[in-house]
Amino acid sequence: MEYKIPFNIPPYTGKEIDYIKLSCEKHKICGDGEFTAKDNEWIEKKTGVTKALLTTSCTHATELSAILADIKEGDEVIMPSFTFVSTANAFVLRGARIVFVDIRPDTMNIDETKIEAAITPKTKAIVPVHYAGVGCEMDTIMDIAKRHNLVVIEDAAQGVMSTYKGKALGSIGDMGNYSFHETKNYSMGEGGALLLRDEKYVNDAIIVREKGTNRTLYQLGKVDKYTWLMPGSSYLPSDMNAAYLYAQFNMAEEINDNRKKSWNKYYQDLMPLKEKGLIELPYVPEECEHNAHMFYIKCKDFEERRGLIKLLTSNAILPASHYVPLHTSTAGLKYSRFNGVDKYTTKESERLLRLPMYYNLKPEEIDEVVGRIKEYYHFS
Ligand SMILES: *Cc1c(COP(=O)(O)O)cnc(C)c1O
Repeated sequence: MEYKIPFNIPPYTGKEIDYIKLSCEKHKICGDGEFTAKDNEWIEKKTGVTKALLTTSCTHATELSAILADIKEGDEVIMPSFTFVSTANAFVLRGARIVFVDIRPDTMNIDETKIEAAITPKTKAIVPVHYAGVGCEMDTIMDIAKRHNLVVIEDAAQGVMSTYKGKALGSIGDMGNYSFHETKNYSMGEGGALLLRDEKYVNDAIIVREKGTNRTLYQLGKVDKYTWLMPGSSYLPSDMNAAYLYAQFNMAEEINDNRKKSWNKYYQDLMPLKEKGLIELPYVPEECEHNAHMFYIKCKDFEERRGLIKLLTSNAILPASHYVPLHTSTAGLKYSRFNGVDKYTTKESERLLRLPMYYNLKPEEIDEVVGRIKEYYHFS
């Protein structure tokens, strides 16, 4: 079915093709060309991290993080169950067991007050996921990590341009991971980045990302031959993809403002329904500046959401539910345990509904979506 208002349209500024052409004409289309360097620098400037490394995806950036954190067979990693599979997969691939804790119903982020009870002598890392680009309670999480000597790896896939207490998401923990998949605010088709807050992991990260070799030093003319130094993989994207992303970084503020405008319009226009107790709206803590990655509402329950999805799709509007909690999945049952009670993870995920949100979403389109939601709730 063709949707009049799709759920997502990948961002496109018009300049991408010029930059890709430039990268082709330089005959440097493999990884770590000029545009990759520009993207890395843009992320470093924007976030203040010591080193940013463009990767082939956020999934791969997370795998890279798991290698750098030296995650081994039998280690435990704490994260929310309400997240994308890649958050867990990266650690399961290294033999770790995932320990899920419940989320907060207000932000859908990991409940920081439930983390400490999940820590065992096997715990190695905490992976907060900044859902919808709204920051987790990072001060508390960093304090727990420090007291228990744990590594913090932020899944900031949705958090590019967002901040917590003025600090960029992805720059607060030991490592941070960004996604530039086409469903994210800034895109290169498939892509991501690893952010390293301080020097500690930089050398190893560069080696692991280049198949476990010192090829980067070789290309800089610093060694005569490159050689195999440690286990690694190929996590660097083509410079053509990096060129596409650079066009979007150049318009980052504009894209962000545009999305925020849409988000704010949804929020204002749906407020009367919230005031009548018909739906719930997203909550953004005061210390968080978000990037309008997503606009969601919460229906009363699964059944009510099902009806709304039906009404919207039959009017050529495509909404989207989100993650099936990982602890209930086939792989989840095998590789994880849920610590404590699943009070909110399942219940809240079943009633959350994401509305169409993309760069250059038109006010009339928002009017139409909101109008249909009002129709569903007989609101006038
Ligand atoms: C999109 C996303 C990922 C995966 O990103 P890719 O770049 O597609 O690998 C991981 N975690 C979260 C929370 C995401 O939203």
